[in-house]
Amino acid sequence: MNGAASFLVVNFVVALSFSVVFVVVARRSHSRTAVIWLGAGFGVASLSAICELLVAYAGPTRFWALCAFATVLCGMVMLTIGIGQMYGRRISLLSASVYVLASVMLAHMIYELPRGTPLQALLYQSPFALVVLVGAMSVILAPQRTTLDLFLGILLTITSAHFLGKAGLAVWVGSGATAKDYVHTNYALISQSLTAVLIVTVGLTLLAKLVLEILAVHRTESEADSLSGLANRRGFDRQVNEALQRHGRGRHAIIITDLDHFKRINDTYGHHVGDTVIRAFSEALRSQAPEGSALGRLGGEEFAVFLPETSVHEAGRLALKLRHATMSLEGLPPSLRVTASFGIAAVSSVADLDAAYREADVALYRAKGAGRNRVELATSVTQSVASPC
Ligand code: GH3
Ligand code: MG
Ligand code: MG
Repeated sequence: MNGAASFLVVNFVVALSFSVVFVVVARRSHSRTAVIWLGAGFGVASLSAICELLVAYAGPTRFWALCAFATVLCGMVMLTIGIGQMYGRRISLLSASVYVLASVMLAHMIYELPRGTPLQALLYQSPFALVVLVGAMSVILAPQRTTLDLFLGILLTITSAHFLGKAGLAVWVGSGATAKDYVHTNYALISQSLTAVLIVTVGLTLLAKLVLEILAVHRTESEADSLSGLANRRGFDRQVNEALQRHGRGRHAIIITDLDHFKRINDTYGHHVGDTVIRAFSEALRSQAPEGSALGRLGGEEFAVFLPETSVHEAGRLALKLRHATMSLEGLPPSLRVTASFGIAAVSSVADLDAAYREADVALYRAKGAGRNRVELATSVTQSVASPC
């Protein structure tokens, strides 16, 4: 087996491996259908290597040569559909099928043309270049591109251009007098080694994008509280740390709040009403908290609001508004009046965050001890905005 034939075997194994990996990854991905298209694309394209070997070492030549053309093109169209779905560009199955059929017919028609002429080489390579260019455009024109997306877009553009380059190379060095001779040419060696590089780089880049997406979804899920829709303790801590790093040392505030006599609500009205209260209270927090603040359900019926660039007195005014909003939560039994207690502390940097949590907690329990439904500032803050109901 010569060099080009070895590369064909390598490309078959590599493309098939990517196919299997994408199908496995699809089970964990939110873009499942798109990833299955990618897996199917690599799988179908891998068959072209087998077809090329059959062209060289078995008959009938024309049939296997057209199969090689069709499988590569079909695989690329499938990849383009998958990439389109990942980047929000729908490619209709009908137009994709018509495109493949028309291109295979074109390949059939130019089969008799002398190989290596500019016209034959260009007509043979153009369908590949065009379909990959559509994939590249889907990525490049997508809104909210990351650096990795940009890299993928450039990579696909290079892949598209490389097909035109291959047409030039076929004219320059010759792609064999007949399809059977192809595998023994230097052109085949260069072409197949380039294909190997591109399969690996495009495959790995797509895989990296999918893995990063899965990790991002996983992180969002692991940092969200499903009942309230707010961040959980882990998500809240991360948001606060990021906000503190963004804003730097300054005058920030944290409010810790806890629903009053919540156990009694559960016992009297049932657990599902308790859950409704948690949802309604979370909604009140969401609608009252200013933009840029971080909200979290720290656990049970305890919540926190982090307010960057906010004094404890401004935070106190927000807490008073929240205290009022709590007493008129909507969608609850008419006889149920919900109240909450609030503790507030100042935060100036990441370093004193733990101390601020503790101070706000102490203030909260002071509010509880003083009869609940109150707002208390940490003792380090001199002026009190406490307001008994
Ligand atoms: P306090 O005014 O002192 O805060 O009293 P409390 O009854 O609110 O506090 P306690 O800690 O005694 O009870 C909290 C209750 O909250 C007990 C627990 O079953 C309930 N709880 C915790 N998480 C949930 C939840 O997700 N849904 C519901 N319905 N209840 C919850
Ligand atoms: Mg409570
Ligand atoms: Mg509690």
